[in-house]
Amino acid sequence: MTAAEKPPLDLKLSAPRGFCAGVDRAIQIVELALKKFGAPVYVRHEIVHNRYVVDGLRAKGAVFVEELDEIPDDGQPVVFSAHGVPKSVPDSARARQMFFLDATCPLVSKVHKEAQIHFKRDREIVLIGHAGHPEVIGTMGQLPEGAVSLIETVEDAARFTPRDPANLAYITQTTLSVDDTAAIVRVLLERFPAITAPHKEDICYATTNRQEAVKRIAGLVDAMIVVGAPNSSNSQRLREVAEREGCPVSILIQRAADIDWSRLDGIRSVGVTAGASAPEILVEEVIDAFASRFDVRVELVQTAEETIAFNLPRELRLSAAE
Ligand code: SF4
Repeated sequence: MTAAEKPPLDLKLSAPRGFCAGVDRAIQIVELALKKFGAPVYVRHEIVHNRYVVDGLRAKGAVFVEELDEIPDDGQPVVFSAHGVPKSVPDSARARQMFFLDATCPLVSKVHKEAQIHFKRDREIVLIGHAGHPEVIGTMGQLPEGAVSLIETVEDAARFTPRDPANLAYITQTTLSVDDTAAIVRVLLERFPAITAPHKEDICYATTNRQEAVKRIAGLVDAMIVVGAPNSSNSQRLREVAEREGCPVSILIQRAADIDWSRLDGIRSVGVTAGASAPEILVEEVIDAFASRFDVRVELVQTAEETIAFNLPRELRLSAAE
């Protein structure tokens, strides 16, 4: 098809999108560990929720496991994923004298610390988050069983019965929907006005910024494409945000090959974004796929600048400088 025969398409590229500082750091940790210690480097759980990233690291010598007991005692390092781990995981690594590197995002570690402070102050803790997500398992696992109650919905918040309503605190998963979380917090505040809130929002800057950018675009386009994995919480939220803002078609895809073109029949405009664990190369692949079918005009829609970067673990800082 020549450019003249292709239908025109206005492609609004959302910014910020894709990798956040926590994901960038986690991937660097695995890459630098491979460089410094050689293969295999074990990684407990997908380092970040993205198949392309995981396959790329596997090809370089990373070995992904779900639990430490799958790792032999061969002295090679094990990396804990960006989502964080329950305390029992580093404890058992220490008991086995394993060498471990913790790639937990510092913004997840911040929530862990908040939970520990509330616990020390004898507060009952409510965690707003999604059951079964590794970050939620990791955060709940910072404290003894029963110390943290999980709330997933407004209905859960309306039903929740604390031991002592005057001595309550809430924390949240970092990758939630900003709007859903605000609604849950409103219910908690109405019911328990004395509840202690995080000093600084637990939903991280990357989640907030990506959702804001999608909100700006979603009402202006016929379809929204979110590049990300189905098990990536922040990617799922981006798809939902676009849908709620009234975008007629909102699709989460891992790769360009996953696009169901029959759902995009007759579109004149599309928005493209990517979850915090999706690399830019996959966004480029999607833009190329649109360009092969449409006469694409790309417009960047930027709602925030991101300059955050996190320090690497001490053991790897020298290798990073080499
Ligand atoms: Fe950290 Fe937020 Fe990225 Fe999660 S999404 S790794 S909390 S910066």
